[in-house]
Amino acid sequence: MEFRSTQAQEPLVSFKDVVLRCLPPDEGLYVPARVADMRQYFMHMDAKTTYPELVATMAPALLQGELNPFSAKRAVESAFGFEPELTRLDDDISLLSLYNGPTGVFKDFGIAFLAAVMEELVKNSGPAMVLSASRGNAGVSLAQAFRGRGGISSVILYPAGPIRGLDPASFATRGGNIIPIQITGTLDDCQRLIVEAIEDRPFAERYGVTSANAINLGRLLPQCFYYIYAFVKIKNSLRGDLVFSVPCGNFGNLIAGLYAWKFGMPVKGYIAAMNVNDAFGDYIRGKRFVPRPVVPTNSPSLDVGVPSNYKRLAAFYEESPAVMRNMVYPASIGDDRTVAAIGKVWKKYGVLLDPHSAVAFAAAEDLASSQEFAGHVHTVVIATGHPAKRAALVSQAIGEDIEIPPRFAQLQRRVDPIAIIKPDLEALEGVIASCF
Ligand SMILES: *Cc1c(COP(=O)(O)O)cnc(C)c1O
Repeated sequence: MEFRSTQAQEPLVSFKDVVLRCLPPDEGLYVPARVADMRQYFMHMDAKTTYPELVATMAPALLQGELNPFSAKRAVESAFGFEPELTRLDDDISLLSLYNGPTGVFKDFGIAFLAAVMEELVKNSGPAMVLSASRGNAGVSLAQAFRGRGGISSVILYPAGPIRGLDPASFATRGGNIIPIQITGTLDDCQRLIVEAIEDRPFAERYGVTSANAINLGRLLPQCFYYIYAFVKIKNSLRGDLVFSVPCGNFGNLIAGLYAWKFGMPVKGYIAAMNVNDAFGDYIRGKRFVPRPVVPTNSPSLDVGVPSNYKRLAAFYEESPAVMRNMVYPASIGDDRTVAAIGKVWKKYGVLLDPHSAVAFAAAEDLASSQEFAGHVHTVVIATGHPAKRAALVSQAIGEDIEIPPRFAQLQRRVDPIAIIKPDLEALEGVIASCF
């Protein structure tokens, strides 16, 4: 498969270039240039197929010529010590839990795949340095995924504030390959510094600089695999059409679902489940997108003003607006209903939801009771976060305390960065140089 920028049909680039450049030079985002029909690879899989099996089959098929089946198998085995979990709640609703990874958030899936596949891709070229910015979770996920990967070092920039959950034994100062650096500034300062480093040619070339931020297609593309996994698990017992309900912030997860459809997965559509920050719903309904100020809610990962994947979604709408109108259903769920949904799902099914997943659940209920869909859809709700990560809210919603897995306690442990610097490229270069 070849890739292009959202801003131009050409040039076409390889997956390796996409992963190692992260952003095209024209301010667009990388997207697949042509889409392959992948049905022959998954239509005959069944409920016994494991997630690593599915990914090890589909990844080399998608990335033909760049990732052979042996490398893919090795990468997948080293990436996934965790799996998606499909739970049938009722005839018309299931839950796809994606929070079983090290940090309890679905983003672990994309990060783990990117790190493992990048290790395979750089085997015959020079070393790579992955710069990322984080305030918390993603940093831990990146540090665990990149730890010990040959030919790769992972620089994680943190804004002012406590740094938690990293293992100092993995730091470059102790012979590892993880370089956490605190910037005396904001998360935006960290992001800006990354762009500067990528654009500083001599620096970027000396270290092979790229970024593993959420916009890297190497993180987003592999998220299509868990949609296909859910389809494979459910297809033989499906009554009615398949719909996914996706909690949407920056819309990466939803776009990965649309890629699964492009690759041949039979699906009726996707609910774009938002909280009250739903200005982007107008765009989905075919109107002009007018961003509104962000309102804080109890599902904070969905509190996004302008989704960073806007250009990727726009590429779908430019290609086929009529199809998109019938495939993506925007929904908006307020804080009260989010809490009520957590309580209801606990009472009715004995299952805990985090608030982001609860937004998607409530949106799925609305769809299932609408005239157009009632009685003939099965909705898979994407559960993006572990309920214990929002323990206070979830406990309150169900009226009892919930158990917090011990691995999450580790995520709270404070650590020191290996350096604290001003948001300045020269200072960053100085620290990095001292690590080699
Ligand atoms: C990041 C995140 C989301 C939003 O996902 P996008 O791909 O940005 O739309 C939803 N829920 C949780 C728990 C998240 O961490």
